Amino acid sequence: MVFSQPSGRNKQSLFGTSDDRKKVAPTFRLQPKNPPPPSMPTADDLLETATVVALPMRTRFRGVRVREALIFRGPAGWGEFAPFAEYDDAEAKLWLAAGIEAAYLGAPEPVRSEVRVNATVPAVPADEVAALVARYPGVDTVKVKVAEAGQTLDDDVQRVAAARDLVENVRIDANGGWSVAQAVEAIAAIGEVEYVEQPCRTVEELAEVRRAVSAPIAADESIRRSGDPMRVAALDAADIAVLKVAPLGGMRALIALAHKLPMDVVVSSALDTAVGISSGVSAAAALPGLHRACGLGTGELFTRDVAPSFRIEHGVVTPRRVEPGIDLPLASDERTQWWHDRLRRSHALLIGR
Ligand SMILES: [Mg+2]
Repeated sequence: MVFSQPSGRNKQSLFGTSDDRKKVAPTFRLQPKNPPPPSMPTADDLLETATVVALPMRTRFRGVRVREALIFRGPAGWGEFAPFAEYDDAEAKLWLAAGIEAAYLGAPEPVRSEVRVNATVPAVPADEVAALVARYPGVDTVKVKVAEAGQTLDDDVQRVAAARDLVENVRIDANGGWSVAQAVEAIAAIGEVEYVEQPCRTVEELAEVRRAVSAPIAADESIRRSGDPMRVAALDAADIAVLKVAPLGGMRALIALAHKLPMDVVVSSALDTAVGISSGVSAAAALPGLHRACGLGTGELFTRDVAPSFRIEHGVVTPRRVEPGIDLPLASDERTQWWHDRLRRSHALLIGR
């Protein structure tokens, strides 16, 4: 067991099922120098070092211009708790497990020293694409957001074309915004792409689109929010799985899932601060068989981060521990209390109370 549990009734590890543990456990069990696993921190332990930040963003993303996150420090470093505001506590507890893993266990053993990343282009006008991509030096892959509410297919076509003028690989992400028919029409209009991420909302619709088009299909929300990531494989719904540390409950849970899924994976961030990105980069660095650029350059979307963002050089980032500064953009007292309450509720769910 990764963490000692407060009661014996929860047989699951915080970081994956017992089945997953068979695969991931050797990364720390076979290292005699490692200290014994720490016991599960209490909510008070976490809140003792907690800071709630409000990071300003360069452009609107997922409908927000300020990203709030709670960060805390443990014996292994910093952890982040930043589920999106609309997520319920049952989902939020996995984000908390991920933060605790980072702060109390630290990163798994890396198998590579650098991780290739993509640029991310929100649903901006086509003439703003080049300036955004320029913030990601040396990348050969750009992910373009499409299917934004209030925009037209022509906006998407123009934006993707602008990205295609700059790099070899363009992937698009619809965040479930299309129906099956709209997806088929849009994919035909947009033309060749590396893959189409989450064209529609459900796993069934993804499978239908995948049968109808030749472009590879990637599953993102269908992996992290469906409750059962393996359904994507069972229904042949995707060629690529987009895996994110926080919604999956941590770096080791992500690695265990990647081993189980019979498809290519891409590690991505969930609009994380530099603390969360650090876990994403470490998970990607510990994954054997990673063939595609990862969505871990999203620190560029903030105008201020909790620590210097992961610098992209020649299209790659390097795993490292992050040490937040002292002069951070703090959330209001009211929002700070909201995050503290949310952490307490998620923590209670996590330890099964
Ligand atoms: Mg996505």
